[in-house]
Amino acid sequence: MVELKKWYELPIGCTNIEPGSSLRNLTASWRTFTPVVDKSKCTKCCLCWVFCPEGAIELEEDGSIKINYLYCKGCGICANECPPRAITMKR
Ligand code: SF4
Ligand code: SF4
Repeated sequence: MVELKKWYELPIGCTNIEPGSSLRNLTASWRTFTPVVDKSKCTKCCLCWVFCPEGAIELEEDGSIKINYLYCKGCGICANECPPRAITMKR
């Protein structure tokens, strides 16, 4: 029979010992598909910026968007949410 442990007897798992260290973790290495923006179709609605779960889309001074390919994981949510279909996922 397995002896169940109390929560305080369990080993410590994931611990963030240094806030802000995620900037050093270049998550783009996981990417298979890359979002590519057709600027001629982009209406600068910023919905992709709102929906990107990684914060990998940056806003430029003129309101256009720029994808930070160091952190984009290629999930495709931005392409799915873009109303004029200005973003295409390329392998
Ligand atoms: S593919 Fe995903 S992670 Fe990359 S910019 Fe679009 S929403 Fe963000
Ligand atoms: S969602 Fe599409 S149209 Fe809107 S800012 Fe992003 S790329 Fe441009």
